Amino acid sequence: MSKESILIVEDEEKIVRLLEIELEYEGYKTSKALDGIDAFEMFLSQKWDLILLDVMLPGMSGIELLRRIRGKNSTVPIILLTAKDSIEDKVSGLDLGANDYITKPFRMEELLARIRAVLRMSQATLPAAEVDEEWLKFNDLRVNEKTREVVRHNHEVSLTPKEYDLLLYLLKNKRQVLDRGQILEAVWGYDYYGDTKIVDVYIRYLRKKIDADYEDALIHTVRGVGYVLKDAT
Ligand code: CA
Repeated sequence: MSKESILIVEDEEKIVRLLEIELEYEGYKTSKALDGIDAFEMFLSQKWDLILLDVMLPGMSGIELLRRIRGKNSTVPIILLTAKDSIEDKVSGLDLGANDYITKPFRMEELLARIRAVLRMSQATLPAAEVDEEWLKFNDLRVNEKTREVVRHNHEVSLTPKEYDLLLYLLKNKRQVLDRGQILEAVWGYDYYGDTKIVDVYIRYLRKKIDADYEDALIHTVRGVGYVLKDAT
């Protein structure tokens, strides 16, 4: 397998150097951009497997850059590096299509775990027989892994990247009861300090978008265990 390419967008050279060393050591190929304008040029110049994007940047903010990248219909995985107290950046970042964020100062192990999780979700492939014209189907739910489109009962559903990842994981493991720890590990890639409440929160978001308008729910709670995607019985 060829090395996965990661674009590091960060203006603090000390952090850039540290990231380069750690990521290269882990077997990734890295490139760097020290400001937003440069970063956008580099984004356009080649295909990246992942972008690490600092929010506070000279030239163009990370949030603005994220908006432009998604504006190009790119689904390249993006992890934001945000300041500790900036809730707005995290929320608008996720709304604008960041796959995840990590708060500075971060532990390298945690960042590496998130990178692995985001790459795993973006590269997950299915057995050929399960894919019908690139649409993964269950009941009246359809998910297109290439375009990340989600359709329920012929209505397009708009999901944030994390909601999408969660739905995809449930769908790929349909009819299997998944416990919160399993879901957390697969979708978030690390243990969130053992806090599995985030899973319940995202299941709630997902239900609002996938199930709320329909009589037959697809996402079911298994009391005391976790969740399962299956037909209503
Ligand atoms: Ca910065």
